[in-house]
Amino acid sequence: MNSADSESLARRLLAAGYVEDSLERADVAILNTCVVRQASEDRVYSKLHELKQWKTPERTIAVTGCIVAKEGGELTRRFPHLDAVVPIGEYEDFVAGLEARYDYSNGEALPLAGRTGISHYVRVIQGCDHNCTFCIVPRVRGREKHVPLQAVVAECRTAVAEGAREVVLLGQNVDDYHDPDGRGGLAALVREVEQIPGLKRLRFMTSHPQDLEGELLEVMARSEVVCRELQLPVQSGDDTVLKRMARGYQTRHYRTIVENARRLMPDLGLVTDVIVGFPGESEAAYLNTRALVEEIEFDVVHIAMYSPRPGTFAATKMDDDVPQEEKLRRLNDLLALQRGIAARKTARWIGRNAEVLIEGHDELNRPYGRIRQGKRAIVLRGGDIQAGTVVNVRVLQATAGQLLGLPAA
Ligand code: SF4
Repeated sequence: MNSADSESLARRLLAAGYVEDSLERADVAILNTCVVRQASEDRVYSKLHELKQWKTPERTIAVTGCIVAKEGGELTRRFPHLDAVVPIGEYEDFVAGLEARYDYSNGEALPLAGRTGISHYVRVIQGCDHNCTFCIVPRVRGREKHVPLQAVVAECRTAVAEGAREVVLLGQNVDDYHDPDGRGGLAALVREVEQIPGLKRLRFMTSHPQDLEGELLEVMARSEVVCRELQLPVQSGDDTVLKRMARGYQTRHYRTIVENARRLMPDLGLVTDVIVGFPGESEAAYLNTRALVEEIEFDVVHIAMYSPRPGTFAATKMDDDVPQEEKLRRLNDLLALQRGIAARKTARWIGRNAEVLIEGHDELNRPYGRIRQGKRAIVLRGGDIQAGTVVNVRVLQATAGQLLGLPAA
């Protein structure tokens, strides 16, 4: 989501004649921020401290992203060398202010064409209508705003015309998407976008177990373009913890979704998020999460230790009662378990063919990209294969994180 926001602001600035440059040569530094965890927020403060050395009266420092909604004017009080605090998406006044300050009309404006990568992110929903008790997103990104279906399709068409071969539809809870003009939900949107000539891949994220619809799974299963990958955060494998998190589903429901999805797409790539050490998570509750991770065999599990985010229900009303060392033990235990599962799952690809959309070349000039199921893959020969090509690869080796293979005969 932040990458999409950065891109949108960068495009607006490029259109105004600005160029991206090193910090040493730049007139303007913009920090796009994330506050989903305390560690990300701390990085913003440390970067702002560092920029104090860089700042001169001629230079501008701006902050945008989620920290603006969380901290607002407090930021300029704490960091007097900060010039602008820009709410997400409200870039016009900021850019107009810069244009009044710096004249780049004779500058070497970079063309926008050629900027679009193989994979292009398109935001379809801003904000979230859920209220998970641990999450700061609804507070900093607000209630859901849905981009009209025609506007999303138009952006995707432009991206493909500029060279993108994959689009990723983004929403904090993308399954909740509905066109404000009544043209349907995510399944309808996916059906429209997948028809764009030249588009080879379509992904969407992040799904929510409460809102994912069976129709979408059927569209995925039938499509040649939609990727066989679901990003479906479970957060906990224990029903009492899920209730305290206000996730709105129980583990039985989650298991049913996975069963249905795998019945339609046996090779589905499944990615999830888990929080360990949530308030009230007993050892037995943690073991339920462990058992669920073992049973479902996710391809990737993003594991986080619970950290209270100010203003959330969990931070204000619940006791952060799992000691830090216990959170760390659970984190490491789950990481070790998942490493083994991921290695076993990628090893199952050995001897099979997989379609890789080439995104670029690594330092050894080997083409790399991702397979439809989401795993990263490296093609061991074929340095002349262009980015944007889909290559059928025979998988020869696998590690927990990636596949290696040769173009299939
Ligand atoms: S659905 Fe996701 S973004 Fe929305 S409140 Fe829950 S965790 Fe946060």
